[in-house]
Amino acid sequence: MEQIHGQTVFVDIHAHPSGICWPNVPRIGSDELDRYRRGLIDLVVCNLVSDATYNCLKPDSSGEYPPGPGANFSGKYRPAPGEVLAFDLDRLSAILKTIEDGAAVLADNPAAVRAAKLDGKIALMPALEGADGLEGSINNLHELHRRGLRLLQLVHMRANEVGHIQTFPYSPGGLTPFGREVVRECNELGIVIDLAHANTETILDTLAVSAHPVICSHTGVQRLYGGHEQIGYDRFLTDKEIEAIAAKGGVIGMILVAEWMPRLSDLLRHCDHVRSLVGIDHLGIGSDLLRNMVGASQPEYMAEFGVEANFRAIADGLLTHGYSAEEVGKVMGGNFFRVWEQVGERTS
Ligand SMILES: [Zn+2]
Repeated sequence: MEQIHGQTVFVDIHAHPSGICWPNVPRIGSDELDRYRRGLIDLVVCNLVSDATYNCLKPDSSGEYPPGPGANFSGKYRPAPGEVLAFDLDRLSAILKTIEDGAAVLADNPAAVRAAKLDGKIALMPALEGADGLEGSINNLHELHRRGLRLLQLVHMRANEVGHIQTFPYSPGGLTPFGREVVRECNELGIVIDLAHANTETILDTLAVSAHPVICSHTGVQRLYGGHEQIGYDRFLTDKEIEAIAAKGGVIGMILVAEWMPRLSDLLRHCDHVRSLVGIDHLGIGSDLLRNMVGASQPEYMAEFGVEANFRAIADGLLTHGYSAEEVGKVMGGNFFRVWEQVGERTS
């Protein structure tokens, strides 16, 4: 394993370490970074959650935020103009604080990440889960990019100014005219586009507009998950969606949340399906880790991944299952890194 790791940047392509996306988390904890390092991960895509502001996470009269998170993006609260961007900038500064403290390196370009790896340091890529934080302004995209944003997931739990979602409440429609502008500008700026949570129309529109490959960071194979009667099936991709993303050169990241991916054997089935459908070059791992789960009452992530967030168990599992060393390297981060290098090409 050390040899595979020596030749490849290992990446968790979707996570929220230390729950950094929620209010009042000052920085990513060193315990969390150590756990990633033990799992051989070199680069963590750290997602802020723009639409958390629609979840009543508003400071009270004393300036304190009520206890979060409460996974309910119901849109009960209407943020004031500027409020969503301000929330994202505040959370972004908490990622940057981790970097300023010297605990990690900013993943602002691929070369910086390779250098950090040689240095034994973990790299953090600021990302936005939901382009709601742009509030319909390209200038805000520029502002976020200036501060280190390198990955943008277009939509999350609500239809926004950019596009439409794959889950309830289902919203018909694809990329908006502003969404098209956002995709083109991400191409220009070297920002990786993430289609997780997007509906089919938004996925296909994005693939048509983007000059570069795109990813879908934390998902799985819908046909292996069952039919409409199963809650959560809609978060997974159809074979047609997988084929479209792969045809553009993109990557499909497998989620590790227990609800969808209870056992390593499930993950291997999903990986096998994607590999046989479109090839090994389109697989990745997006854990959706949210916080340190030590002490959690329920197993929240895949059993073999466990509270230790054991990425080695995934790499070892793939090897034992018959994937070659080269293939394991691609899944564990090589494929994502290839996409990022392609996306960043124009700007570097
Ligand atoms: Zn998500």
